[in-house]
Amino acid sequence: MRSVTINPAKMCQPIGAMYALFGVHAAVPLVHGSQGCTAYPMRMFNRHFGELVQVAVSSLGEDASVFGGKKNLMASIENIIARRHPELIGVITTCLSETIGDDIDGIIREGNFEDSKVVPIHTPSYVGSHVTGYDNALKALVTSLSVEPDSDNAKLNILPGMVNPGDVLEIKQMLDSMDVSHTILSDISETLNAPLMLPKPPFPSGGTSVDEIEDCAKAQGVIALCEHAGGSAATFLKGKYGMAADTICPIGVANTDRFLDAVGDMTGVEIPYSLEQGRGRLIDAMVDVHMKTCGKRAAIFADPDVALALAEFVTELGMEPVIISSSTASRKFLQKAKSVTDGGEILNGRDLYELQRAVKDNEVDILFGNTKCAPIAKDEDVAFVRCGFPVYDRVGYHRYGIMGYHGGIYLTDRITNAILEWGER
Ligand code: SF4
Repeated sequence: MRSVTINPAKMCQPIGAMYALFGVHAAVPLVHGSQGCTAYPMRMFNRHFGELVQVAVSSLGEDASVFGGKKNLMASIENIIARRHPELIGVITTCLSETIGDDIDGIIREGNFEDSKVVPIHTPSYVGSHVTGYDNALKALVTSLSVEPDSDNAKLNILPGMVNPGDVLEIKQMLDSMDVSHTILSDISETLNAPLMLPKPPFPSGGTSVDEIEDCAKAQGVIALCEHAGGSAATFLKGKYGMAADTICPIGVANTDRFLDAVGDMTGVEIPYSLEQGRGRLIDAMVDVHMKTCGKRAAIFADPDVALALAEFVTELGMEPVIISSSTASRKFLQKAKSVTDGGEILNGRDLYELQRAVKDNEVDILFGNTKCAPIAKDEDVAFVRCGFPVYDRVGYHRYGIMGYHGGIYLTDRITNAILEWGER
């Protein structure tokens, strides 16, 4: 085991927490740490989504590092409320504020802020990854804001995880076609794919409202699309309010079938003919290209749940997932990956150096990964399918979903075109 990371593949916890907060309407992520803890994530968001995201920071310096950051945090919250009047402020901790031991829960309680909800989110980045940060943020939102229900709202809670706005749209369209009312926690489909409007609104339109989060306890069920990024909130909702809960990442035919079955079981709604047609179109698209995809050896690098679902989908396409890799170390990922790869190599919480070594060793034909994997695809001369976060060396990827039947068609086309371009080279 190496004691050094070469070409790190994971990002830090606060990035995941910011991702979750961007899907809440009129919310401000307030990073309690040094300025650098916001500078690099903001650049990453700007480049991936093409949106000017706004993040506040309590700007801890030398004095706060010694004497504590309470003064900075109080001043930051008061300033944000006075200037931006948000519905919610998510206070996101960092390596520094966790190490100096700032009691942000106590500071927020003491502040007794009345004009905005203020939620503490613990994201020490020396453990976990961006995925853990998203999971912690979502759990903090539902534990702090959900209210004991006095009636049912006949809705379904969907926790999408760190997916693209296009994925959330695919899920919403499937639920709409079934007439299933839903609350997306949290909903980036508009906030991170916002229309350009003048005059510029103080906050992007869309996103989950604080009222909706407070009401999420009334739902009849919850489905987390990514167990590692939303699973803790689903477990909380199930444990505290007794609602039905499931975890399914709807990428590919079988996983989308399972997702719709779970929606049907929780709501009693039948799957409409329009979705059966969508399924048929996906299978038709897969059959059309099977001679290109069959037998190809695939290496998949993504966040744990997406990596596993992608591995299942490429198997449906007749490919062989010979490497499944995630930068977030997880025992659950390791166990599930063993059942999906059938003897392939599993990289659990490893770096990109290790991924490149595995691509070399396994005679890979096609690599799936974010922009940071592009140099590996080039060096090793394999086909490359961009997916995950961040993708900033091409434009528009955030707009299109790979989830659901319709997303599966888009992904099938991209996989096949990547193989065709590779062949032409
Ligand atoms: S100091 Fe910690 S929280 Fe800040 S950017 Fe670095 S890893 Fe992330």
